[in-house]
Amino acid sequence: MRSLLVTGGAGFIGANFVAFWTRRHPASRVTVLDLLTYAGNRANLDGVAADLVVGDICDFELVARLIAEREVDTIVHFAAESHVDRSILGPDAFVRTNVVGTHTLLKAARQAWLGEKPRPHRFHHVSTDEVYGTLAPDDPAFRETTPYAPNSPYSASKAASDHLVRAYHHTYGLQTTTSNCSNNYGPFQFPEKLIPLFLLNALHGRPLPIYGDGMQVRDWLHVEDHCLGIALVLERGRVGETYNIGGGAELPNMAVIDTLCALVDQAFAADPSLGVRFPEAPAAQGQPTASLKTHVADRPGHDRRYAIDCSKLTRELGYAPRHDFASGLRATIDWYLAHEAWWRSVLDGSYRKAA
Ligand code: NAD
Repeated sequence: MRSLLVTGGAGFIGANFVAFWTRRHPASRVTVLDLLTYAGNRANLDGVAADLVVGDICDFELVARLIAEREVDTIVHFAAESHVDRSILGPDAFVRTNVVGTHTLLKAARQAWLGEKPRPHRFHHVSTDEVYGTLAPDDPAFRETTPYAPNSPYSASKAASDHLVRAYHHTYGLQTTTSNCSNNYGPFQFPEKLIPLFLLNALHGRPLPIYGDGMQVRDWLHVEDHCLGIALVLERGRVGETYNIGGGAELPNMAVIDTLCALVDQAFAADPSLGVRFPEAPAAQGQPTASLKTHVADRPGHDRRYAIDCSKLTRELGYAPRHDFASGLRATIDWYLAHEAWWRSVLDGSYRKAA
């Protein structure tokens, strides 16, 4: 594996993956293809050994040219519209990027790698556990064989892309792998997702809007563990297979929120300078962060429970998550506290000007 094309590598998981991969494989050449939508941020790649090409995965000519010119032998495909709430408000962009974009990449990969002179290659597709639908409290966790039952426009578009990847393997022999992972958290996550949104709201004394009763259950995966799982699949995974990647931390949202609130309170108690930096935070005024918790109407069609069985990845490739949830969340809070300039530029939109 010498030359990687990482789509969506300026987004949350993609940027973490590029940093992870280049530390693990310093000899690899990495090209990031990213459209720098609202979710993409050039600054996420600062100090990382990768070339950023700003462009669209739906642009066949561009993708074909990059594969040829850079002798790409591995595509790691993260680029997507990724936020469920946005998919409910406007599904079209999800169909375009997640379905048409994935198909464009597959077409270009097939042309480049399976033409007159077939070349060793790998197409790795990054997907989600949301394609499996929702679980009742006592249902067994999702396995790779669980039938697909996507419930949101986001998960339906990801499911469609998974099927296209599968079809390109079975029909044309493209050397594909797919991973389906649970909810990620960690550095560089855009503050529309639960953990960074609630943390930044807590620092500014704004309400923490909890959907419905807050008892929706998710498995939480530290982004570095996700990157490890993908790296193992790229290095030793079986072609044509799918692998679930989980964090072993199945928790109701309310437990995540309560842990986050407690960790913020502890951080303020341990470091008085935080009260000076963030005077609007309840923790700066001797109040518990949990006093900001506010219930709001539930998301339409909100899946109740996801749980992921990643024993196939453990059994075949030796995967084990390195972060437990409490310490991973503490480290994530510390990262946001230490990278105020990063999230302020996201909140005030100035990161877009750098694009
Ligand atoms: P993100 O929204 O943070 O980043 C997506 C990136 O894709 C951005 O940099 C954006 O600019 C880029 N992009 C969007 N449209 C593009 C296009 N047409 N052409 C080129 N680039 C484009 O997403 P993320 O959270 O980093 O997720 C990455 C992948 O992981 C996605 O495929 C997502 O479905 C999957 N996933 C995410 C999670 C999670 O918890 N975040 C969980 C399971 C699966």
